Formats: sequence, structure tokens, C-alpha cells
Amino acid sequence: MLPEVAVLSMGGTISSTNAGGKGVEPTLTGEALVSDVPEIADAAEVSAASFRQAASGELTIDDLVELAAEITRRVDGGASGAVVTQGTDTIEETAFVLDLLVDRDAPVVVTGAMRNPTLPGADGPANLLAAVQVAASEAARGIGTVVVLNDEIHAARYVKKTHTENPATFKSPLTGPVGWMSEGTPRIAMRPIRRHHIALAPDAQDRPVALLKASLGDDGRLIGEIGRLGYAGLVVEALGGGHMPSRTVESLTSLAAEMPVVLASRTGSGEVLRRTYGFPGSEIDLLDRGLINAGPLDGLKARLLLSLLLRAGTSRDEIQATFDSWLEPESR
Ligand code: ASP
Repeated sequence: MLPEVAVLSMGGTISSTNAGGKGVEPTLTGEALVSDVPEIADAAEVSAASFRQAASGELTIDDLVELAAEITRRVDGGASGAVVTQGTDTIEETAFVLDLLVDRDAPVVVTGAMRNPTLPGADGPANLLAAVQVAASEAARGIGTVVVLNDEIHAARYVKKTHTENPATFKSPLTGPVGWMSEGTPRIAMRPIRRHHIALAPDAQDRPVALLKASLGDDGRLIGEIGRLGYAGLVVEALGGGHMPSRTVESLTSLAAEMPVVLASRTGSGEVLRRTYGFPGSEIDLLDRGLINAGPLDGLKARLLLSLLLRAGTSRDEIQATFDSWLEPESR
């Protein structure tokens, strides 16, 4: 008896063909993707469905909340694991949301392709096969959500897209991959120390969080508009270890008194500092003014974590505690 794996497709390059003549667009269904790779039948009993059919920039957090509920239903109905196929542009965001929302030991694997099916060396079929092999494996149970492409297995919480075209685009700059594929067998070499779960009420509403990237000479005029635009929180991708130009400090301070403001780094790797620099706009100054330290989470992930915590009705203090304890091992 082969393990059951649910494959849910959401469009993206892996499913794109040149139907309209202008350029490729997502057209292939989940069923078509699976039937194109006969080797999948040796790895798992697959049930495939098209959950969405879009370029990945069209997806919303609401879609991902629905997807997490569907995956949970499939697992509770007997699936040993789930595979999600989608556009690589936002894979790291989908994977991170699923990691936070799906509270099951069944592996959840997100994959896609960098070369569409019309190109020589299209990577979709190999990525899909590897993703099913990981989702069906005992080795990956309990690991949470992973991204599998190019024969590497990356934990959702650290993975990033790092190149516009290269099939080796997915990297985890802080930690490296947690495993790899070897002759069709998933090898899990390490596991994240702890899983984080956010429980959402079925009627919980979206709480939009803005993401701003700081730059040289930034005068912070957008920060002053965040509340008026209806956002419930802000993540700033600050310079280096968590620094903002001093002329943005007053508007950040006023906003942090109204809503959670999270301090991340635009560098793409490393932690936001806590106790090194003391100049106006430094990490010490901003944290003293009520900003929340994103720790090792980049802006994209900090935005999703904050938005989901707000959607779950989490208090300001609990939000701060979740970010602060991100790297602490599970208490026993
Ligand atoms: N370039 C994208 C992809 O890899 C398009 C998208 O994200 O939908 O699928």
C-alpha cells in the first residue's frame, strides 16, 4: 500500500503554457501536472486537484488560510502528506503561512518550477516528483512545511527566492537547506528546533500589514500615511542591523503607539540587533520607542506572522512575546 498524498495546484510557471501567444500563462490543472510524471505513481497514491489557477502574485492571505484548512481536512481524511504547486515568486510566503497554520505532523511540501513546460530542461516534473516523495516520506514527518526544488529541501521559516531565473533560486541564507534528495529518497539532515502554530477562528478577518523598505535619504513620509490607509500594523525593513534615518523616528514612534510596528532588516540574512548601536534611529533607540524586534525573520515573513497574529486577535504583548521567543526551544 502506497501512502496517500494530496496534490493541490495553484498555477504559476510549473503549469504555464503558451495558450494565448503573448507569453506563457498558468493553464495546466493539478491532474495534468501529475499525469505528466508517471514515476509519481511509484511513490504515492495521489489525489490531485486545482485549488487556484493563477500567477502567484494574485494569491492573497485569505486564499492561504483556505488552503491550510483544505490541507488539514485532507490529512484528517487520511492523506500522509500534501504537495502544493504554485508560482515561485511567492512560494516562500505560502510555505511560511502553511507552516504557521497547518498543525499536523504530515509533511506539507510547496514546489514550483523556474523553467516552464515549453522550455528545454523544464524543472517542474522533477520538482513535483521530489515533492511527492518528500510528502510521502516518514523522514519528513513532524518537520512542518518545506519547500522542495532543485533536489533541495528547505524549511519554510528560512527559505527565500534569491534569483529571477536560475533553477537553484531557493536558498536559506541563515541556515542552509534542512535536507536533500538522493536517488529519489528524501534525506532530512536537520530539523527546526520548534514549530509555531497560530489557531484561527473560522470567521477571523484579514488584518492588513504594510511592508516598507528603508533606503538612503528616506524621509519616512509614507510611515505617516499607514494608519490613514487602514493598515493594522507595519513592518519596516530597516538598514543593516535595524537602523532607520533619524528623520523617520518621530513618525515611527507615533505609529508604534497606535499599532504594532516590527523592525526587520533589509539585508536578507542575520538577526536584527538589540544592544549595539545608540544613535538616534539605531536599534536600541527604536526598540526603546516601542518597535518589536523581528529577530531572524525577514520583512516578508515578519509581515505574515504579524498579520496572522492580528487576525487571531493576539494582544500587543503576546505579539511581542511571539517574536521574542521565536528561536527558543519548545518548553517541556
Ligand atoms: N515566475 C513565476 C513562477 O515561477 C510566476 C509566478 O510566480 O506565478 O511561477
